[in-house]
Amino acid sequence: MNEILKGGEFLIKEISADAIFIPEEFDEEQNMMFQTAHDFTDKSVFPVIDQLDTHDRELLDKLMKEAGEIGLLGVSIPEEYDGFGQSFLTSMRVVEAIGKGFSFSVAFSAHTGISTLPILYFGNEEQKKKYIPKLASGEHIGAYCLTEPDAGSDANSGKTKATLSADGTHYILNGVKMWITNGGIADTLTVFAKIDDDKNLSAFIVERSWDGIEVAPDEEKMGIQGSSTTQIFFTDVKVPVENLLGERNNGFKIALYILNFGRIKLAGATVGASKNIIDETVRYANERKQFGQYLASFPALKYKMAEQVIRTFVNESLTYRISRDIETATAALKDSGMDKDKAIVEGIRLFGIEASISKVFGSEALDYVVDEAVQIYGGMGYSQETQVEKAYRDSRINRIFEGTNEINRLVIIGELLKRGMKGEIDLLTPAKQVAKDLLEKPAPENNLDYFAEKKKTIANLKKSVLLTAGAAMKKYQAALMQEQELLFNFANMIIDLYASESLLLRVEKLGKKYDENKLAPYKDMLDVFVYDAAFRIYKEGVDAINTFAEGDELKGLLMGVKRFTKTAGVNTVAARRRIADKLIEDGKYNF
Ligand SMILES: Cc1cc2nc3c(=O)[nH]c(=O)nc-3n(C[C@H](O)[C@H](O)[C@H](O)COP(=O)(O)OP(=O)(O)OC[C@H]3O[C@@H](n4cnc5c(N)ncnc54)[C@H](O)[C@@H]3O)c2cc1C
Repeated sequence: MNEILKGGEFLIKEISADAIFIPEEFDEEQNMMFQTAHDFTDKSVFPVIDQLDTHDRELLDKLMKEAGEIGLLGVSIPEEYDGFGQSFLTSMRVVEAIGKGFSFSVAFSAHTGISTLPILYFGNEEQKKKYIPKLASGEHIGAYCLTEPDAGSDANSGKTKATLSADGTHYILNGVKMWITNGGIADTLTVFAKIDDDKNLSAFIVERSWDGIEVAPDEEKMGIQGSSTTQIFFTDVKVPVENLLGERNNGFKIALYILNFGRIKLAGATVGASKNIIDETVRYANERKQFGQYLASFPALKYKMAEQVIRTFVNESLTYRISRDIETATAALKDSGMDKDKAIVEGIRLFGIEASISKVFGSEALDYVVDEAVQIYGGMGYSQETQVEKAYRDSRINRIFEGTNEINRLVIIGELLKRGMKGEIDLLTPAKQVAKDLLEKPAPENNLDYFAEKKKTIANLKKSVLLTAGAAMKKYQAALMQEQELLFNFANMIIDLYASESLLLRVEKLGKKYDENKLAPYKDMLDVFVYDAAFRIYKEGVDAINTFAEGDELKGLLMGVKRFTKTAGVNTVAARRRIADKLIEDGKYNF
């Protein structure tokens, strides 16, 4: 059996291709679930997507219930609560299929993810029995109420208050929540509030039908108009004491744990959305002519389409790699005797760094895809007649919710350093080793085969992160957490490194299944992405070093980061053209 990796350990360990899951390994049942969700999006959501965007709450509610009827809302809910009891990975596959469904996908994800899971994983048996079957069937729609007008990224600073009634039977809830997805259609609300003068939030299950709850009209937003986003006002709402979710003061922890799910699921949705928009793009490029030629024949546009494909393929590679790693960690925790709900929450917590990587990478990959889709459509891309215009507006929110990408970047590096300092991950020994390696002449390694060469590049990229972040850590100690520009340099290096490695391991694994001919476009993607990533990592590293080092240290670090980010030359023009040619010939994303 493969060694079970801890989250964050990718930075200090060599990972084998056999240790990761690739989407080509989905089994028949998982593909069937995918197909069901895919067909639902095509047949039930797409035909009404423009109507949905007119804030038609009834239609949204109807679609959610339809999704519930065919089992899509209960994919990973245990059978004892009327779900399908499928694995986390299967639920991710369904999220991908729904992900192409524009604003419906946001309503779906908010319901099945951040709204249902707090009760499923932190509720007691009575709470689960009472609420989960209804959420699984769609009889009740869920909402997650954390954000307030004055408490966004700093969510624990919320002012919503819960006070125990004199007879001790219920809490009296007062406050305002803002930007609540599904606000206009939700029946079951997970509301975060502070009991009396507690420092931390507590969580409550609140029913919309109770007195004192007022839901504002839908916000007019830049995009995802079809998902209902509202303010919710709570005035002297009586919440029975048995509806406290988890322990008092533990709500902020619940909120953060659940956001880990939200983040990786968001990445899954961006995979589906990206593939759909690439299909739209190549269809248009294959139909429209300018200067007597199809748009698809222009090399400048081939560059963009190839890049859409590469970023989407990488996004998919890392998202499913993480999903399986979470499953594996969860299974190991269960085997060690941990309660099954705790095990999944802990499994995903262990991969919180990776979940944040996927959130940032996925949302930024999709933004690239939709932006260049609009560009390739030209003037038509600016018209509301086209799906790419909607996709462009809808995509933007992904960098804002589930923790902004700034907050997620800070989580990536902050959590890594925290685990390093706690000794959960040994960052110190490899960081010291890298500093030592620098003093020695690199041993010549001739005749490495294709994958060995790439692995060496990835191993060196890891060294470049350890070298620069290690030196900054030594210099600033705990004060490093205040140097946000530096933290962003390191987070960006780590994201590119993790993305490169995920792509490499997938392509290497595919190499065992495919002949050279079939493997060729994937190797092209690997060549282009790693080549670009190494340059980006170099730039981030140099920027960081110039901030804090001087004299001999500066010289040594600059030399080191240059050495560790060196890559073989790649004809990226030819490689991108070949990737685009396959896309154009297939007429759709078929990678
Ligand atoms: C359409 C939509 C749907 C949403 N759905 C939900 C939902 O269902 N439930 C829910 O509870 N919330 C929801 N939200 C809220 C969302 O999670 C918040 O908008 C988000 O967390 C950011 O908070 P904020 O808007 O208050 O921005 P702020 O926190 O004010 O941030 C503003 C800017 O400052 C940056 N910033 C903040 N703190 C730091 C820092 N420490 N260091 C560096 N930069 C920082 C941010 O990255 C951002 O760029 C939704 C929001 C929208 C727009």
